[in-house]
Amino acid sequence: MRDFFLTDEDRAFRAEIRGFMERELAPRLDRIEGAEDWDAQLEICRALGEAGYLKVMFRDLYAGSLSAPGLTHAVIVSEEAARLNYAFETTIATALSCAYPLHAHATAEIRERFLLEILEGRAVGSICMTEPNVGSDSAGMETRIRFDESTREWVIDGFKRYISNASKADVYIVWGITDPDVAPQKGMSAIAVPAGTPGLGFPRTYDFMGRRGCVVGEVTLDGVRVPEANLLGAVGGGFRIMLGAFNFERVILGGSGLGVARSAFEIAKAHAESRSAFGRKLGSKQLIWDMIAQMSWRIDASELLTHRAAKMYDAGIDGKELMREASQAKLVATETAVFCADRAVQILGGDGVTRQYGRAEQIYRDARALPIVGGTSEMCKYLIAAREMPSIKPDL
Ligand SMILES: Cc1cc2nc3c(=O)[nH]c(=O)nc-3n(C[C@H](O)[C@H](O)[C@H](O)COP(=O)(O)OP(=O)(O)OC[C@H]3O[C@@H](n4cnc5c(N)ncnc54)[C@H](O)[C@@H]3O)c2cc1C
Repeated sequence: MRDFFLTDEDRAFRAEIRGFMERELAPRLDRIEGAEDWDAQLEICRALGEAGYLKVMFRDLYAGSLSAPGLTHAVIVSEEAARLNYAFETTIATALSCAYPLHAHATAEIRERFLLEILEGRAVGSICMTEPNVGSDSAGMETRIRFDESTREWVIDGFKRYISNASKADVYIVWGITDPDVAPQKGMSAIAVPAGTPGLGFPRTYDFMGRRGCVVGEVTLDGVRVPEANLLGAVGGGFRIMLGAFNFERVILGGSGLGVARSAFEIAKAHAESRSAFGRKLGSKQLIWDMIAQMSWRIDASELLTHRAAKMYDAGIDGKELMREASQAKLVATETAVFCADRAVQILGGDGVTRQYGRAEQIYRDARALPIVGGTSEMCKYLIAAREMPSIKPDL
């Protein structure tokens, strides 16, 4: 059985989500990929939120028919969205990445203002960690946050880049250093910055090779002032908030990789079964069999690792106890997406590199970001090895 970790209820949920994506996402694909129409993304996001599908991993907020909603179901939503369009799936993933710290750490005031709005698809969130001099090494962050006692406001100065939904979001969760005199693990904080706050700027939007239809850009914070209540968790608790979100984000990214890999595989198989070469079906050639077999086992490995990690999370396992499994899921599924996208193009030959004959070239361009976002493959390998050899501190 391929989806060994899933229950019948999980499978029925997948069928429901696949139907939703065919109904809501499929008719808007040309607008997203071709016209890079942000409104198309918002329309589906709203429909997804109204159906309650963005709430599945927040059990206290979910009110649908699933008896035990959880990360497994958020992963299924990601898989089914990414199967049709990775760009739209990243909009879901970013919404969840923003909702997660708001749900766990925001004051009641901030939660009320933004959390349900995001999960019901009426608002867009953004998470701001990466900086020009700081990517994987997030502890080296240069953004500064200080408290102004006279006005009881937080004041933020910094520069963030590669920020999904920059300029489009309604709220930005910004990480920065509140105490430069201690280690960043204890001197970093996270804070909610509403759109429209004076000093918040968006100087540049990037032009990416793939994920067309997404908005990713720079965010500048120039003396940005927000009320005291906008701090998430405790002062100095930002690094822990960041680490706390990594496990669930990486499992979700396992779902993204799976969806992209499956779509490439479906295209490759259909071509191998229909195209003829040297008087026989292309699919009968041993070198093609090798590619099909490799895609098949890599996808199954991705699926098993991703669903295992999601089920562990749903069983209450998180933190260090999930780090190895979440990193394995992210690493294997996202590298599998790149592998399958590449092999699909190869099997399609000339058709694989044109825009006229299907989606293979788009999937190839889209997939490449997956082993970079949300913790690179190299960082995932460090985390896996660190859990395997706890007595040795990795030399990063
Ligand atoms: C499309 C897209 C969307 C994004 N969205 C967001 C977002 O919404 N919010 C946000 O905060 N960030 C976002 N990012 C940023 C993303 O998280 C970073 O790109 C990623 O963490 C890597 O950081 P970097 O690009 O600075 O690369 P670096 O950290 O500079 O790494 C460059 C390369 O060196 C490798 N490397 C680094 N250190 C080591 C080491 N010690 N040993 C071996 N290899 C190493 C890395 O694995 C990588 O291959 C996004 C990025 C992209 C491309």
